[in-house]
Amino acid sequence: MALTGNLRINGDRLWDSLMDMAKIGPGLRGGNNRQTLTDEDAEGRRLFQSWCEKAGLTMGVDTMGNMFFRREGTDPDALPVYVGSHLDTQPTGGKYDGVLGVLGGLELIRTLNDLNIKTKHPIVVVNWTNEEGTRFAPAMLASGVFAGIHTQDWAYGREDAKGKTFGDELERIGWKGDEEVGTRKMHALFELHIEQGPILEIEGKDIGVVTHGQGLWWLQVTLTGKDSHTGSTPMPMRRNAGLGMARITELVHSIAMAHQPSAVGAIGHCDVYPNSRNVIPGKVVFTVDFRSPNLDTLNAMKDELEEKAPLIAKELGLGIEIEEAGHFDPVTFDAGCVTAVRNAAERLGYSHRNIISGAGHDACWVNRVAPTAMVMCPCVDGLSHNEDEDISKEWAAAGADVLLHAVLETAEIQT
Ligand SMILES: [Zn+2]
Repeated sequence: MALTGNLRINGDRLWDSLMDMAKIGPGLRGGNNRQTLTDEDAEGRRLFQSWCEKAGLTMGVDTMGNMFFRREGTDPDALPVYVGSHLDTQPTGGKYDGVLGVLGGLELIRTLNDLNIKTKHPIVVVNWTNEEGTRFAPAMLASGVFAGIHTQDWAYGREDAKGKTFGDELERIGWKGDEEVGTRKMHALFELHIEQGPILEIEGKDIGVVTHGQGLWWLQVTLTGKDSHTGSTPMPMRRNAGLGMARITELVHSIAMAHQPSAVGAIGHCDVYPNSRNVIPGKVVFTVDFRSPNLDTLNAMKDELEEKAPLIAKELGLGIEIEEAGHFDPVTFDAGCVTAVRNAAERLGYSHRNIISGAGHDACWVNRVAPTAMVMCPCVDGLSHNEDEDISKEWAAAGADVLLHAVLETAEIQT
């Protein structure tokens, strides 16, 4: 079997599997609540396991609960090509975020079985534990341990809002495997995911060829002034921390605008003290969020804020403290894997464009330890982490077709 544009997955079968998985942990408004390490997560895992075993795959589960299903290759020495994403959802999540990447991987295997296609490299479909990070922060926890970003002990100790730990809950739902996490070697990894942004839909493109993931800086700023009466404090005597935040909000926006088109910046969180109608804010604590796929740009934005925000504070008689509250380096996906994704879209006749992932994904961590790339398909109105998240059957099929071709080009068809 040659790798031609006629080779396609079964879009109806993929869609049926997506709908069957969505029955587990249904949300209140048509989406899903299948949070990590809940009974619903366990049930979803069992369904996925039954499908994979029916497709002739053999399962491995590591000590973080990551599930790996392997289809053998013809070369016993060849490292596997991995495909996958995550089956866990937000508490008010959609049916496709993550799930499409896992079940798209399974559909790819089913297609190879139907057509009796053999590959030199084995192919492994993976479901990463706790990508969402809502119940146990941070996001991409288990792929992070796999890639050596976090230690397993630290991950096991993460607590949910009720004080239950990740380690205990993993044990409780019965999905703590015995394989040591992070020991698997990969030839490559491909992750199919919905865009979670509006660009592909607006531009009418079938496929996003993901070249980069955004890096991020979170800076927590504390401005200290003097809380005093809004009515009786003369204007020249005020030390208004709220005014300082307003000016720094404007500064953040202008810094990001100066680095277009590949930078964004905003203040998404603030606490105002004492937060009373008739008191001038004496203290404001807020978080600046800067993102860019370019490390120099990202750091330049941070530097500019650290240089100019204190000048604003000084002018208003405010104290200022800026602390680093979070950071990810930008991700540059593997050139060879990215090319395989682009070639796949071309071969299949799908319209495509390069795209940068604005959100974090398991592939971003795995990229540290293996050649990695991502495929994106559009989603309606760019909406995700919402029960109204929606895609079309055709978009899902196109994404899985591209995944199939990128994997086959990398795993090498044997005739
Ligand atoms: Zn996701």
